[in-house]
Amino acid sequence: MRDNTTGERPSFVTHLECAATGERHEANRPHGLSRAGKPLYVRYDLPALARALPRSALAERSPDMWRYRELLPVRHATNIVSLGEMTTPLISAPESARASGGRGDLLVKDEGRLPTGSFKARGLCVAVSKAKEFGVSRIAMPTAGNAGAALAAYCSRAGIESIVFCPDDAPETTISEIALQGARVFRVNGNITEIGPIVENGKETAGWFSLSTLKEPYRVEGKKTMGLELAEQLGWDVPDVIFYPTGGGTGLIGMWKAFAEMEAIGWIGAKRPRMVAVQSATCGPIARAFEAGRETAEPVVGGHTNVPGLRVPWTIGDFMILRVLKESNGFAITIEDDEVEPARAEMAARDGVHLCPEGAATFVAYRKALKHGRIRAEDRCVLFNCASGLKYAMPPVTARLDRLKPIDYAKLVSAP
Ligand SMILES: *Cc1c(COP(=O)(O)O)cnc(C)c1O
Repeated sequence: MRDNTTGERPSFVTHLECAATGERHEANRPHGLSRAGKPLYVRYDLPALARALPRSALAERSPDMWRYRELLPVRHATNIVSLGEMTTPLISAPESARASGGRGDLLVKDEGRLPTGSFKARGLCVAVSKAKEFGVSRIAMPTAGNAGAALAAYCSRAGIESIVFCPDDAPETTISEIALQGARVFRVNGNITEIGPIVENGKETAGWFSLSTLKEPYRVEGKKTMGLELAEQLGWDVPDVIFYPTGGGTGLIGMWKAFAEMEAIGWIGAKRPRMVAVQSATCGPIARAFEAGRETAEPVVGGHTNVPGLRVPWTIGDFMILRVLKESNGFAITIEDDEVEPARAEMAARDGVHLCPEGAATFVAYRKALKHGRIRAEDRCVLFNCASGLKYAMPPVTARLDRLKPIDYAKLVSAP
């Protein structure tokens, strides 16, 4: 198997393109937002890519994110900062499907296997590699937790200084993880949207580069590999429906881009999955905008949810996410906080798959969508488990056994 992070391969990047206006921007220097203040897409010479990279060429490459290197923006292999971004498994959950009334495959894309235990590794791996390529020496970011952990790890690996700002209700485990992985981390009184300006306003004085969600072009490129992997794992097909827990929305946007690029280079056909944005009923700006038929979202004032990855009251990619939902004939769906932990326990017990709360939210959404006829019972559905369930609190256990007393063995097993 060939190591995908060594050896030169040509770069096919042609330019960056404003997601709102289509205006071209030069790709060979660092960028934040476009001149219009909107996210930038990386564009490639797809006809040349199609000629250079038949999908059969992947067979001899090792199973990790960098097997798609020609479709990624890093120009020189020496700049790749890697911690082993494995291809994540697609695990079936047949008992959970059956109990929900689903007759098609229910598949969990288990992103918790990635470095730092979440899919944030994909985006940060590519963005930090690009930052290294540009000679950036200091990076800052606001984060609900997992993005900061990935940033810290890749920056430490690259010898880049990282400074991370977390809402003070971010999960303790992740805050500690960020510090342990070598970043300077601060708890801030505010939500992720409110602390964003600290990073933007500090750019000049503190001299850091911002890797805030969608405020630079390369994290989406890393997240795109989820779409590439899915298609390859399904034998160059796509599922019928993808349930994605939506915060900033980089994954939805990235996968949608991946499907278009794969079609353009002849790897897949015109079929697309229906993309479903899963949000919390109490903090769901995209869901609100979708229901109202709007093309942009309003910030949810005072929005809160116990699901950390969904605690995003607004995102700069609002119009891009809403576009993906519309183009894919998908939809947005909300879940209640108190539905999440029971669903997490249910899938763990039925199928042995331990979801993080955000992943469990997609399972709740799948069941609701089935129940309300928003998807077909025979649809092949993919749930995104974005992080390892082990990063989050689990229910306490109280059962005890005294080995020095007589043991009633019949009571130790479930009733017959
Ligand atoms: C970041 C995150 C999300 C949201 O992902 P986006 O692509 O930003 O919408 C969901 N779940 C977990 C565990 C996350 O870390």
